[in-house]
Amino acid sequence: MSALINNELVYTVKDLCRVCYTCVRECPVKAIKIINGQAEVISARCIGCGNCTKVCSQKAKVFVNTSQQVFEFLNNGKTTVACLAPSFPAEFHDISYTKLIGMIKKLGFKYVLDVGFGADIVAYKYHEYMVMNPTKKTISSDCPAIVYYIRHYHPELVDSLTPICSPMVATARIAKAQFGQDVQIVFIGPCIAKKAESDEIHQVITFKELRNMFHTASITPENVIDAEFDSPIGGKASIFPVTRGKLYSMNKSDDISEENIIVASGKTHFKEAIKEFEDGLNKLQHLELLCCEGCIMGPGMTEPNKLYTKTTFIRNYVREKLQQLNKHEWEQHFKKYLNLDYSQHFTPADRRIPKPSNEAIENILNSMGKKKPEDHLNCGACGYDTCYEHAIAILEGLAESEMCLPFTIEKLHNSIKELNLSNEKLASAQLSLKQSEKLATMGQLSAGIAHELNNPLGIITMYSHILKEELPADHPLQKDISLIVEQADRCKKIVGGLLNFARKNQVNLVETNIIKFAQQTINSIIIPENIKVEIVANMTNPMVYIDNDQWMQVMTNIEKNAIEAMPNGGTLTINLQEIDHDVEISIADTGTGISKENLEKIYTPFFTTKPMGKGTGLGLSLVYGIVKMHRGQITCESNDDPTKGQTGTCFKIRIPRNKMFNQNKSYTYESNEY
Ligand code: ADP
Ligand code: MG
Repeated sequence: MSALINNELVYTVKDLCRVCYTCVRECPVKAIKIINGQAEVISARCIGCGNCTKVCSQKAKVFVNTSQQVFEFLNNGKTTVACLAPSFPAEFHDISYTKLIGMIKKLGFKYVLDVGFGADIVAYKYHEYMVMNPTKKTISSDCPAIVYYIRHYHPELVDSLTPICSPMVATARIAKAQFGQDVQIVFIGPCIAKKAESDEIHQVITFKELRNMFHTASITPENVIDAEFDSPIGGKASIFPVTRGKLYSMNKSDDISEENIIVASGKTHFKEAIKEFEDGLNKLQHLELLCCEGCIMGPGMTEPNKLYTKTTFIRNYVREKLQQLNKHEWEQHFKKYLNLDYSQHFTPADRRIPKPSNEAIENILNSMGKKKPEDHLNCGACGYDTCYEHAIAILEGLAESEMCLPFTIEKLHNSIKELNLSNEKLASAQLSLKQSEKLATMGQLSAGIAHELNNPLGIITMYSHILKEELPADHPLQKDISLIVEQADRCKKIVGGLLNFARKNQVNLVETNIIKFAQQTINSIIIPENIKVEIVANMTNPMVYIDNDQWMQVMTNIEKNAIEAMPNGGTLTINLQEIDHDVEISIADTGTGISKENLEKIYTPFFTTKPMGKGTGLGLSLVYGIVKMHRGQITCESNDDPTKGQTGTCFKIRIPRNKMFNQNKSYTYESNEY
């Protein structure tokens, strides 16, 4: 047997492959591997059936073209013999066979032999073998793809292969007997597996390649002289290339009432037939197999379909041929060449991959979300008939889990969800960035104004106080001067707040018991009688690093706002808890709540809804800045609509307990960084 099967018969043109998995689905032996989303033919597993080349709509699977080597043969001065497969009338139905032979001869072939004659001999030899071995169960061996399939995937059945050569090899042996051992033999047919079948044939080209050679050499039916086959000419067995053709040539049929013969052709049928033959389910004598639905459907034909039209072309040709056949001459040739050796020896070449363990298969299935039997959709989108087979192929390194469409779609959905989530996070980050930017600008502006105002304001305050003290208590201007003092003090407070907000700040972190600290904040403000205060602490470790002075401002500002929002009384709840490595302080009230439009503005400096003289609108912007300096986050939820339930506001502040803070307890921040 030829060692050529290890050569690449079929390969992928990577740029053209769109990874539709059609080739995987159509390959009867799963010799196509998907790596990094690219389909690749594994030549060691390939049986050369060429199914993938037939089904690839992108023409990404191609078989080796050897026409160049044939041209070299034709120009090297040696005698070259063409052995023409009997399927040619299905390809060249538009021209007479004499024109075709004329064209082949014009290419430079000295002789054109009819493989139909080799088929006549082979048919006779099969008949003879079956008569002489009536109890032996046999499988036909003239289709090279079937022979490879058995040698690679059912090596135990190699002995069942009929030990007779194919019509191609028979014709080559006849050619050598006739024209000498050193002639160059080129087979022309519809099959690509033939390219690797036997080293008794020097080159094999398909009909497609032959057409290209005619084109290259500018040979047309019009510019050649008609020619006949060189003898011996084939007879009845010229019907070989259609399914059951050989049986017809042997005067046999697969009629179960007459013979124990089963015919199977095409990728699904031949595999099933071999499996059943191996299992011993059928009591038959002979399995007649073809990988394609007759050689006329081979991948080397220009037209991949039209089985019935092609069958008709062959029938018409054979009928006409038999009418014109010189029977006497045929018989003489038959007798002359029958005594040659037509035997063929086949050897096993096991290419099976050991099946992975059930546990490994189960793991792969689980990783693709196929945990229950109903998850096994067996949709075939991956190219494998079942999810189970796909899992095995993944373990064998032939497939990837991304080939599973439902799995990939789900992954895509998850990615979209994650992307949406990131988008939301990004939007909220953008919002707080805007807020920070606004605060930074305001901070610079405020710092400037406050600085300029502070000195003249100091003078006004000082002199108004002196004036107030110097004037007798009952002086008529006492009331006016008191008002000046009061308002000047108020201005000082505002400017002080502004400076506080805008100054360069240092955070001095001190390990603090936050539960005790919360209680202190409450003690430092005036709580009206109608307001109930609750501190709820749910913490195993209350220690946290904070700047005590600043944190006092944070909490008291929020608490004061809460109290001011509950003029008719209510509850102020401080909740302390741990979330992962953070501490969360929530301060909630049952007050009036904040409207949706105001909620966006509360951190803006000078935003206040309080009456003149009551609020400065600097409290929460200060809070925001300090929280950011502690690397924390502040959020606010509020309901101001009583129809939607209890009104009130809840501020949640989350700060990290922070390892970095623990190691390096003092951190300097520029307040206008936030
Ligand atoms: P001020 O208290 O001086 O008005 P803040 O910056 O402390 O300034 O607060 C800004 C505004 O946010 C307040 O005027 C008020 O409208 C609103 N606000 C803050 N906290 C609350 C709360 N707990 N309930 C209702 N409104 C609040
Ligand atoms: Mg306030």
